[in-house]
Amino acid sequence: RQGTVIITGASSGLGLATAKALAETGKWHIIMACRDFLKTEKAAKSVGMAKENYTIMHLDLASLESVRQFVDNFKRSGRPLDVLVCNAAVYQPTAKEPSFTADGFELSVGTNHLGHFLLSRLLLDDMKESDFPSKRLIIVGSITGMKNKKYEYVGRERTAKGQSRGLARAPRRAEWAKQLFHDRRWRFRRAKAYKDSKVCNMLTMQEFHRRYHEETGITFASLYPGCIATTGLFREHIPLFRLLFPPFQKFITKGFVSEEEAGKRLAQVVSDPSLTKSGVYWSWNKDSASFVNQLSEEASDAEKARKVWEISEKLVGLR
Ligand code: NDP
Repeated sequence: RQGTVIITGASSGLGLATAKALAETGKWHIIMACRDFLKTEKAAKSVGMAKENYTIMHLDLASLESVRQFVDNFKRSGRPLDVLVCNAAVYQPTAKEPSFTADGFELSVGTNHLGHFLLSRLLLDDMKESDFPSKRLIIVGSITGMKNKKYEYVGRERTAKGQSRGLARAPRRAEWAKQLFHDRRWRFRRAKAYKDSKVCNMLTMQEFHRRYHEETGITFASLYPGCIATTGLFREHIPLFRLLFPPFQKFITKGFVSEEEAGKRLAQVVSDPSLTKSGVYWSWNKDSASFVNQLSEEASDAEKARKVWEISEKLVGLR
């Protein structure tokens, strides 16, 4: 049978390119889990995806209620779930003030991490039940998350007065665990918020692996697809940055990959029979060959992963 894969944020960039690459094989039915139907429909058409190869289902990761509704809708569809790709993300490089999710969490961590955390926890049983030969849960990571050095938090919420309160921030690594909650010195750092969310993504993938790989046989993996400097991720950046970033990545750092190439890479992590190793973080070398990359000390800290898991469970209402 065709495999069923859910891809969040399949309306543009990496998610769309991956959906396209998988649809072209004819072996996959793609559930495009997106917040904007019309945009997603247009996007699917624009890359030539055949109607029978995809279904668009509404999901707004910035609302835990929407995540729950999406899961209900998916379950009602009666489809098996073979692979889940947590790909969607927001990045607010120029925001002066934080924005919040429907549940009052800082938007980057709320969307990129907490929304996906709830989604994957609620869909894990469906994946367990699938009879697909290689079931996978993939959380898209980033190299930026690996350079996250100093401060940590995993979300914040509004107080009754409408002010925000840090749930987790610590000036030194060792104190991170102690200060996870109620640290009033927390302040919004726009690039940091995205990096934190990506560290959470990578820690979550590893914690999934430790807790569920042996029991379920599911492959849990993360990846850095390369610098896809042309995607919508940089839509909120200043125009000069958006103009110069792609050529800078192409000619100076030489880290640039096209959306098409990045989509092929993520599609490999979804379906390549040789990429079944669990608990790993994939990268690609200059010849586009995949290899298991080392995570930074912080992004592979097992104790931190456990903490992020437990706190996230509380924040999304799983305990
Ligand atoms: P895009 O902005 O093109 O894609 C992001 C996707 O996320 C869009 O489909 C967007 O939907 C969706 N999204 C954002 N917020 C929500 C939400 N609340 N609910 C549902 N969907 C949402 O960026 P990329 O393709 O570049 O990013 C994809 C992934 O790749 C991210 O995880 C990013 O961190 C990662 N990545 C990207 C790199 C790059 O260089 N671009 C490098 C390394 C990692 P909508 O269309 O409605 O806005």
